[in-house]
Order: sequence, then C-alpha cells, then structure tokens
Amino acid sequence: MRTQRQVVDYSLQKRAVLRELLAGRVGTYDVCDASPYLKNAARFHGEPTDRRCPICRSENLTLVHYIYGDELKQSAGQARTLTELPVLAMTLREFQVFVVEVCLGCDWNHLVEQYLLGRDGLTGDSEGISEQDATSAEGGGRRRREAQR
Ligand SMILES: [Zn+2]
Repeated sequence: MRTQRQVVDYSLQKRAVLRELLAGRVGTYDVCDASPYLKNAARFHGEPTDRRCPICRSENLTLVHYIYGDELKQSAGQARTLTELPVLAMTLREFQVFVVEVCLGCDWNHLVEQYLLGRDGLTGDSEGISEQDATSAEGGGRRRREAQR
C-alpha cells in the first residue's frame, strides 16, 4: 500500500514461539487460544492465505487486519478487510494496522506485523498549496474592502 510506513515485523517472535513449542516448553493450549471475537473477525473480515498453519498443518491461515487510531473514533479496534484499508488510508491522516494470523482449525494465532497507513505518508505536499491560495484570497478580500472606503 502506498502510504504504508513504520512497519514492524513480528516473524522473529513467531519463530521463537514455534521453537518453544517444538522444544515442549509451551503447550499448544498456550498458543492456540484464539478468542471467539478473533475467529469471528477472521471469518467475516479475514484475508485467506495459501500458507498452512504451522501447528495443525491441516488448515490455511487467515490474516485479520485490526485498525487503531484517534481519527477512527468508535471504529478503533475493529477488524477491516484488506480492500477497505486503501480507502481509509486516503480518508484519514494516520492510523495503525495490526495484522494477526489465525487458524480456524486449531485456534493458533499470532501477531504478524504492524504498520501505519494514512495520507500523512504521501509525498508531495498539496496542502501547502491550498493554504497559500487561502491566504491570497483573504488578502484580495482585504484589498477590496479598502478600495470601498
Ligand atoms: Zn491450525
């Protein structure tokens, strides 16, 4: 996505969890704990992938995109489909996206990455130009008023 920035990749943390699991230091019940909310979000707003679940290896993973930010108001913390994100990115200045992978088979879930989206990430400052226009229009108004006197 064009305005994507400040990407944080959590694949190292994920690998560490999987290593712990293989070593038997954590159980599958510790890592396969997707909440009903997360699973619903995956069903209704999730992005299917062709990657197999690393735990049960029988289902493909689904990616859920959660959005956070002051501008979102009551929508903050909700899941959004991937196709909705570019639209939001053009409307809002800045919001945070958290991507979580979920297996609907065994309830495995893990944060994949986070990043910022929004118009603030666009290069080329068109707002500067409109501000200038506003100032000159104001100046024109003042001149007109002076001319009337
Ligand atoms: Zn699974």
